[in-house]
Amino acid sequence: QQEQLQELRGLAATTPDGTTLEIAANIGRPRDAQPAVAAGAGGVGLFRTEFLFLDRETAPSEEEQVEAYSTVLQEFAGKTVIVRTLDIGGDKSVPYLSLPREDNPFLGVRGIRLCLAPPYQHIFRTQVRALLLAAQLNVASLWIMFPMICDLRELRQAKSFIAETEAQLLQEGKLTAPVLPGLRLGIMLETPASAWLIDQLAKEADFFSIGTNDLAQYTLASDRMNANLAELHRPFHPAVMRTIAHIIQTARKLQRWIGMCGEMAGNPRASAFLLGLGINELSMEAGSFNAVKQVIRNTTTAQARELVERVLAAESSAEIEEMLS
Ligand code: PEP
Ligand code: MG
Repeated sequence: QQEQLQELRGLAATTPDGTTLEIAANIGRPRDAQPAVAAGAGGVGLFRTEFLFLDRETAPSEEEQVEAYSTVLQEFAGKTVIVRTLDIGGDKSVPYLSLPREDNPFLGVRGIRLCLAPPYQHIFRTQVRALLLAAQLNVASLWIMFPMICDLRELRQAKSFIAETEAQLLQEGKLTAPVLPGLRLGIMLETPASAWLIDQLAKEADFFSIGTNDLAQYTLASDRMNANLAELHRPFHPAVMRTIAHIIQTARKLQRWIGMCGEMAGNPRASAFLLGLGINELSMEAGSFNAVKQVIRNTTTAQARELVERVLAAESSAEIEEMLS
């Protein structure tokens, strides 16, 4: 069976009736890019850039970041690379930023909230400058994704920040021509607020990617790291499955590209359900590619749609786990 899985490396995730899902990699460092390509990644669905900021004394400079982003874009030449802007706060603390202590860090100033807050905007500015400068290389298609967006106000602020930064770089002569027309700007859907505002967000976001780790945590009001909540926090809770269904179905209706980059995307037990809903892309650790492809290659879209109906009618995680096994 291991050999069968190995053979899948060069094959697409295409169903017997001809629907193809994009299979992309989650990476945290430039050095993860090459092994992901070797394992058959069709692109990067999530580059968690906060890893560039952890375990060091100072923030990485503009030059260092240009170098890091360029390395990944070059490894994925001709493909799509989704770079998520800095997602710190929550459980990811950065000593040199001296973030204030919060009673509920996961409900506090994290992700895009932190990047747009005046005391930290300089960190975000440097990152965006580096991304736009790396985009100038034009080797891969760069999509920029904002984490933890709740509503249009935040999305608009983030987009203005990017536009302002481009204007500065043009003025300084560091950019010789605008790069924004060639980029896509999208968001993570990982808060219940964004899930319910997806129709509004779709007017201004070029693409979406579902972050199931945070989406489950915020939907169930249960800390994703708390072992005492494991019974509630099972991977396929009916409330989470219905939220995901609402998101994907709405995105497809509005003709917006929709991917998934949380843990669920790499769980082969979820693949048929996500296929049935019409997801465009699944992004995961490279080690999960083959198991997910194997499910997709053996499931017809009709079977997958029928499974969706049953899952959405289920009353418990246990019942859904049974259906998906
Ligand atoms: C998620 O929340 O599902 C996600 C992909 O982001 P992270 O795990 O980095 O919070
Ligand atoms: Mg998240």
